[in-house]
Amino acid sequence: MSYLKERILEEGVIYPGNVLKIDSFLNHQIDPGVMKEIEKEFYDHFSDRRITKIMTVEASGIAPAIMVAAHFDVPMLFAKKKKPSTLKAEEAYTAEVYSYTKQTTSTVMVPKDYLNKEDAVLIIDDFLANGEASMGLVQIVRDAGAKVAGIGICVEKSFQPGRERLEKEGLDVYSIVRIESIDSKNQEIKFKEGH
Ligand code: 5GP
Repeated sequence: MSYLKERILEEGVIYPGNVLKIDSFLNHQIDPGVMKEIEKEFYDHFSDRRITKIMTVEASGIAPAIMVAAHFDVPMLFAKKKKPSTLKAEEAYTAEVYSYTKQTTSTVMVPKDYLNKEDAVLIIDDFLANGEASMGLVQIVRDAGAKVAGIGICVEKSFQPGRERLEKEGLDVYSIVRIESIDSKNQEIKFKEGH
């Protein structure tokens, strides 16, 4: 069994509403050993493509994204959920993203200066649920005239429609772990084969 599946089984807590909490090692307290494994797996899968930039959304995508960026030796760009005072609205690419876990919509943004039509972008995130965060980033990349090289997800909840939505857009999704079902009552997790 893979390192990530083992940690999910040992430390994961399932909340009502199909939310899996694994913040003891992935997205709040972060285990560098797990990050190193994640980085290597994404690099092995995507290293045959041209990649000029790694993108994610703050905050929980930043840790895996910076690790992957270091391996590819390219910059990591994250979309912010609040407009910094130094960024004028017309100088940013923006997208509306509905947060599944927080049940709020935010306008995510990146400065236009940091994306251009020569970029080939690998999108990285901690979870894939309904595909909102990834679709927001895809829209930003496309608005800049750049190309999405692929989407790397640490934990995909395959019973939610995110992957289907992204694949309909012709995008290549690689998930380290795919979850077929979670049950908050029995605290049971079933994995799905493949990536
Ligand atoms: P999506 O945008 O695909 O609907 O959801 C992905 C985003 O929501 C991720 O960036 C992640 O932060 C958050 N998310 C979705 N499902 C879960 C979950 O089960 N557990 C945690 N911790 N975060 C989730």
